[in-house]
Amino acid sequence: MNSLESTITAAGAAACLWDAVVIGAGPAGALTARQLADGGRRVLLLDAKTFPREKVCGGCINEQALSALTNVGLRKVIADLPAFPIREYDLRLRGRSVRIASQGGIAVSRADLDTAVVCEAIHSGADLLLGTTGRLVPRAANDWSPTSGQATEFREVQLEAAGAPLARVRGRVVVIADGLVRKSLQQTSELPVCTAANSWIGLHAVYSADQDSCPPGQVRMLIGRHGYVGTVQFQNNTINLAAAVAPDALRRCGTAAVLISELFESAGVAVPGGLAELSWVGTGPLTRRSRSVAGHRVMVIGDAAGYVEPFTGEGVGQAMTSAVQLADILLNAELANESAMSAAWNTCYRRNVAGRQWMCRGLSLALHRPWVAELAFQMALMCPYIPQFIANRLNTPLAGAPAS
Ligand SMILES: Cc1cc2nc3c(=O)[nH]c(=O)nc-3n(C[C@H](O)[C@H](O)[C@H](O)COP(=O)(O)OP(=O)(O)OC[C@H]3O[C@@H](n4cnc5c(N)ncnc54)[C@H](O)[C@@H]3O)c2cc1C
Repeated sequence: MNSLESTITAAGAAACLWDAVVIGAGPAGALTARQLADGGRRVLLLDAKTFPREKVCGGCINEQALSALTNVGLRKVIADLPAFPIREYDLRLRGRSVRIASQGGIAVSRADLDTAVVCEAIHSGADLLLGTTGRLVPRAANDWSPTSGQATEFREVQLEAAGAPLARVRGRVVVIADGLVRKSLQQTSELPVCTAANSWIGLHAVYSADQDSCPPGQVRMLIGRHGYVGTVQFQNNTINLAAAVAPDALRRCGTAAVLISELFESAGVAVPGGLAELSWVGTGPLTRRSRSVAGHRVMVIGDAAGYVEPFTGEGVGQAMTSAVQLADILLNAELANESAMSAAWNTCYRRNVAGRQWMCRGLSLALHRPWVAELAFQMALMCPYIPQFIANRLNTPLAGAPAS
């Protein structure tokens, strides 16, 4: 995929009052930007990285994500990408295997998918600023307009590149879609997030399928005492490996390759060759929750709003579904009525995203306790319709979920 160019400079962006400034061009931010621009709003989409960029992810895109794209006329984005349809999940624990048929979904490169959605945002009229970090300017600094005495009708975002300040941009709404780390909120105490004390962390690497027996169309999940590893082929001859592991186990093993080898061995699967030579990328703690996802002219979406470990592979689906819903709220709301927008987004998020994460939380609790995982696996062996039911449920699109 070709690299993307910014469509505007920081100085140019600072000269406008934007309807929305969207921080982060992952699936949550890029699709929100596309929807808002498609609805005629002036949108600035910015990302700290240049695109295409890699992302720690299993690359399994479920039916929830595909249906969100279809509903907004973007299914073609997927059709044009090299991808494998997912046929089955193969769960492994201590040498045993449970196979579950997949009800849909595809395996793709996140670099390709995310770049394609950003292209659609530009195509709909959003401006793009890459290689630029955005930080929300704390409210007290710009809240009151000296002339009217009213709360200001915009928020400011400080733009930075390579740690140096560039300019400030103003948006009537700022959408925070900057993923797990939420760097854009680090200078403000607004919208705090709570990280689960025992949260696992993510690991990611890519290697040649010659080193592994994972066939195209299969998602293989290896469950161990200190984490789990998912592997899937997402392009001809390339395997995407994504894992969630206990940080203390990683410290004990010293390197990601040693810990991942341990997880392969304990699941009874041959360790792929050359793990030590791969370039491993990690994340911070994965499981986090925020009490509120909307503040004064600020809306938080995607992983930045809250996340549960990736065992069920729902992240992109939730990011895309809620992007469409948030854009609907912002397009239908009177931009002057910021408290109505905030209330609508908080309600919508609680109902459609947080309300759906209970199953992922339950699975994640089980996976952190080896004896519960063992019990659940025994049940799955005896009654395969139970994991099949859960997989179907998680793959079901949020049909007609109301925005508010
Ligand atoms: C190990 C692992 C495996 C996973 N596997 C799957 C899977 O198979 N299927 C699935 O659906 N989900 C999976 N997920 C979850 C999925 O990756 C996320 O839920 C999804 O990427 C969330 O999208 P987002 O747009 O919220 O954030 P991101 O995709 O993280 O995008 C955030 C963007 O913001 C940018 N950014 C960050 N800070 C700033 C800043 N201050 N200013 C400007 N830009 C900034 C970043 O560069 C990035 O491009 C997995 C996650 C992990 C950790």
